Amino acid sequence: MKGGDLTLQEPAYREIIEPGGRWSMRLETGDQLRIVDLEGQQAVDFLCYSGELPLDRLNVPNTVKLNRSLYVTKGTTIYSDRARKMFSVLDDTCGFHDTLAGCCSHEMDFLRYGVHNKLSCRSNFAQELAKWSLGPSEIVSNINFFMRVTFGQQGEVEIAPSPSKAGDYVVLRAEMPVIAVLSNCPQQNNPSSGFRPTPVEVTVSRAPSDNPPQAK
Ligand SMILES: [Zn+2]
Repeated sequence: MKGGDLTLQEPAYREIIEPGGRWSMRLETGDQLRIVDLEGQQAVDFLCYSGELPLDRLNVPNTVKLNRSLYVTKGTTIYSDRARKMFSVLDDTCGFHDTLAGCCSHEMDFLRYGVHNKLSCRSNFAQELAKWSLGPSEIVSNINFFMRVTFGQQGEVEIAPSPSKAGDYVVLRAEMPVIAVLSNCPQQNNPSSGFRPTPVEVTVSRAPSDNPPQAK
């Protein structure tokens, strides 16, 4: 296994995800997913599921415990319900990616802000998961790339302005066959997307073809 190197092939795939947009793709072991915050301060809500049955999926508490950190950043690993490695974080120019705040939803937007928004990350997840025959009950606590959530000694939690600058990026290496799902957060009522949701870029570089298939 070529662990941790950044020797990228030319991206096999590139897409701009508009504000409020959604995206998903199956990745094989060794594929690299790069997410670029094109204009800065743009939260990207992220879920991942095993590409093979029986279904295994992102587990944020396992990720926090095994990394011994509330932040996902370069050098950390994203783990599943069964404590399997799903992704390694190969590179990260932002430094702070949230594990606490979960995703926005129509119901939460109304409770918090009294607004009826047309878009939410939860509805984006539901629609995107349906492509893979996964139902809304498979939506679990997610990672928020480029989102800053602060916490205090007494347990206070606050969504804070993101330090992410235009062009900041994170690079993930798939450690097993996975379905990666993201929502480019449409939130305008808190600082998670700088009160002004903006596009992000997704590129996928495929693992070298001489990579042997990953044994189970
Ligand atoms: Zn959102």
